[in-house]
Amino acid sequence: MIQILILLSSIHYFDVGLTYDDGPTNESHKLIEYLRDEKITAMFFPTGLNLQWDENYLSELLIKKQEVGNHTYSHLELDKAPIKKIDAEFTRQHEILVRAGFSVKFFRYPSGKPSKRLKYLLKKYNYDGIADWDVATGDIFKKTDDQIIYLIDRAINKKLLKQNFDLIILFHDCSAGVLRRTRKLVQFIKIKNLNSSLMDKGVVFYQLSSPAEIFKRRLVE
Ligand SMILES: [Zn+2]
Repeated sequence: MIQILILLSSIHYFDVGLTYDDGPTNESHKLIEYLRDEKITAMFFPTGLNLQWDENYLSELLIKKQEVGNHTYSHLELDKAPIKKIDAEFTRQHEILVRAGFSVKFFRYPSGKPSKRLKYLLKKYNYDGIADWDVATGDIFKKTDDQIIYLIDRAINKKLLKQNFDLIILFHDCSAGVLRRTRKLVQFIKIKNLNSSLMDKGVVFYQLSSPAEIFKRRLVE
């Protein structure tokens, strides 16, 4: 009995959150379908501009229980933009997502360029916070699948060293091969679980988890 308790107390669940920026493109629907089949909830950051070309994208995301965040209407880089423009782009995109039936709680900076104005906007629209990431996969910069998996594995190991048990991955839903890369990552996680062994810190099981839950937990910590 004591041995069982010791074993249970040394099990850690490591949450991997998938996020997809700048969609949609023509691969998106297959990707959403695949995530649904694998029972994975990811978070998508489409732009209003790209949404013009695919009127079913948001409803598909909603039906397939995916999450969305605000990424501005036209992927506006906020660091040099005037306040009026920031407000307009934030609000326009927010309203598109809300009209589609989503409760929007996170914002991601386009190209990672921050602005102090966001503090005001997040409060005004009752957001939980900024959606950052741990691994920029470089998928739009022609990184190979093996290079991407290597980056992710290295980031997981760094987190484990710090006794940290979650990881947010940034993919782009606008780059060819996004479905293939996602499949490879899911496969990689499954193999990692099969090989999961007793380490000095205990057993670690990896799971693909809701990014919103990971972000919310980080806000509390
Ligand atoms: Zn983006």
